[in-house]
Amino acid sequence: MELWQNLIRDSIHSVDQLVEKFKLDRKIAVNLDNFFQARINPYYLSLIRYPGDPIWLQCVPDEVELNDIDASEDPLGEDSMSPVPNITHRYPDRVLFLATSQCGMYCRFCTRKRKVGNSSKISMKDLESAFKYVEEHSEIRDVILSGGDPLMLTDVMLEKILKRLRAVPHVEIIRIGTKMPCVLPQRITPKLVKMLRKYHPIYINTHFNHPWEITDESKKACELLVDAGIPVGNQCVLMRGVNDNPEIIKDLFRKLLAMRVRPYYLYQADLTKGANHFRTPIKVGLEIMDKLRGHISGLAIPHYVIDAPGGGGKIPILPQYVLHQDDEKIVLRNFKYETFVYPDVTPKDYRNDIPSNGTDNLEGITLPILVEEE
Ligand SMILES: *Cc1c(COP(=O)(O)O)cnc(C)c1O
Ligand code: SF4
Repeated sequence: MELWQNLIRDSIHSVDQLVEKFKLDRKIAVNLDNFFQARINPYYLSLIRYPGDPIWLQCVPDEVELNDIDASEDPLGEDSMSPVPNITHRYPDRVLFLATSQCGMYCRFCTRKRKVGNSSKISMKDLESAFKYVEEHSEIRDVILSGGDPLMLTDVMLEKILKRLRAVPHVEIIRIGTKMPCVLPQRITPKLVKMLRKYHPIYINTHFNHPWEITDESKKACELLVDAGIPVGNQCVLMRGVNDNPEIIKDLFRKLLAMRVRPYYLYQADLTKGANHFRTPIKVGLEIMDKLRGHISGLAIPHYVIDAPGGGGKIPILPQYVLHQDDEKIVLRNFKYETFVYPDVTPKDYRNDIPSNGTDNLEGITLPILVEEE
């Protein structure tokens, strides 16, 4: 067994361990275990500094989860957009491809609790209909391996999947969504990376939520990936008590950028069962975004998105920079709250004097910008 597999094996997962290690009441621990099992590997456990800290909150089961276990199983309507098992097809040109239900750690805020952690293994045979779907739909240019965590698969199994997808002519890029660089960086080995780079263009999106998750080990993992020409992005979930603070987020994003990981999305926490205690007011997210733009490198600024309930997809939201807009001008404010009037090109002058490319007047075009009059 490889080191990372030993670390998984040595995870805290049973009721007995939860009671002993975290002093949970046994009855509550049983209920929590029935609701969503724990898996805290020794590496991630070692990042905890004190009970209830931002690392602890993400991995240790808590009684408050039991308050809303009746909330949505599938808040993003993924199952209704699943044409065949293991595929979610929401956007025109890309699909999620669920390759496993296992993860290196089980996050208490997970939105895929219904899919994650059940012990039934997914085999290549089980994935046949998913491969067929990708092969038969030439509009699919981007396949996002997801789960669970695809890097829970062995190198051999993962390579079989990549090889099959790479053989599909219309699949341009393959993405891997994995939390391993954060929760179990030992998984990113030179051997894995050597295999991955054979299937370029490969992109990875990982998932760091707090600066304490950035360690020598996680840095090394990300560097191995990036040095192999794999661009690494980060998807961060905004959570109460974990990172709902502009200084913490700024610190995290700067540190990510310094190890060549680009912040990609900042997610508003989903309406998911057992996780409502993590939700923050949208105002908090907007304020964080306001304190990033202009203040830190633009490369470190992600899109803040709400994943629309029921499957509407990710919708970006921005602090209000447009103070007013009419046919002649737009009134904007900058990161220091200074106001600027920018003269617009009026629709009647637009492209009257240059050859048309088909868009020769804006009469019929309405831009969906809502501006409140002061
Ligand atoms: C997030 C997501 C994607 C990828 O979206 P991008 O904006 O391209 O990163 C694709 N499919 C589903 C179902 C998703 O939830
Ligand atoms: S790694 Fe992702 S899929 Fe797995 S438990 Fe955490 S949030 Fe859920």
